[in-house]
Amino acid sequence: MTNINYGKKKRLTGFNELAEVKMNISKYGCDYKCRYCFNTSLCVWGRGFDPADLDVTVIDREKLNALVELKGDTVIYPNTHDITPKHLEAHLLFIGKLLAVYPKVTVISKPNLVCIRAICEAFPEHKDKLTFLFTIGTVDDKVREFWEPYAPGIPERVKCLKLAHDLGFKTSVISEPLLDETPDGVLQMVKPYVSDVIWIGKGNMMMQRVSCNGHKDPETKARVKQLEVWHSKANLEVIYQRLKDDPQIRWKENIQTILGLRQPK
Ligand code: SF4
Repeated sequence: MTNINYGKKKRLTGFNELAEVKMNISKYGCDYKCRYCFNTSLCVWGRGFDPADLDVTVIDREKLNALVELKGDTVIYPNTHDITPKHLEAHLLFIGKLLAVYPKVTVISKPNLVCIRAICEAFPEHKDKLTFLFTIGTVDDKVREFWEPYAPGIPERVKCLKLAHDLGFKTSVISEPLLDETPDGVLQMVKPYVSDVIWIGKGNMMMQRVSCNGHKDPETKARVKQLEVWHSKANLEVIYQRLKDDPQIRWKENIQTILGLRQPK
C-alpha cells in the first residue's frame, strides 16, 4: 500500500484531534453566539473584529464554490460556524462536495432537527462514510441556555442523534467543553443512540475567551470559576478512573495532558 503524504503534521488538539482536514464555508461569525466560542475569540484577537459583528454567519461564496481537493482521509465540517436552516442549501451543497471527494466525512453540529433531517434525506447512500458528531456538553437545558443561548436545546439535539442513529448513520457525541460537573448525565442520555465514540473534553482558556467575546459580567466569571473547580486535575482524575474502561469514551488532548496521559507540546 502506498502511503500518501498530505503535508505537515498538525498538532493534535481541538478539531485536529477529530479529523485530518477542517473545512467551513464562512467568512466570519456564527448564529449560535456561544459565550466560550474559540472562533469568536480568534476573530477578535487576531482579526480585530468587534464581538457584536460576529453574531451571524457570513457565508463565503468563494469557499462554497471552490473545488474541494483531497488533503487527507477524513474531513470535518464545519469548524468555524454551525449548520442552520438559514443557509441549509449551501450546507447541503458543500457536504455533497465533501462526500464526493473524501473517504470519511464528519459533520459536527449543535444539531438543528430540520438540518439533520435534510442531510439524512439528501445523502442516504453515504451511510458508510458520513458520521454525525453532535456537541452536547450538558444534560441541563438551562445550562445550555446560558452558555449557548441561540443554539438548539438539549432535547432537540438528542432527537437529532436518535434520528440519525435510527436511520443507520454513524453517530458520535462530543462533550467539549463539558459544562456539567461530570459527564455521567450526558453519557447516560446519549449512549443508546451513539454507534461510534463519545469525546469528553474540558473548556480551553475559558476565562480569556469569554472576556474576549465580550462577556465580562460577574455571572459568567463565576460560572467559569465553577467549571475550573469541577474540572481540576483532582476531580478529572476521579472521573477518568471511573470511566477509563468504557471503550466508547475518548478523552480529548486537554484532559489527557492534565492527567499526564500525554506530554504537553
Ligand atoms: S456553534 Fe461553534 S462556532 Fe458557533 S458560536 Fe458556538 S462554538 Fe462558536
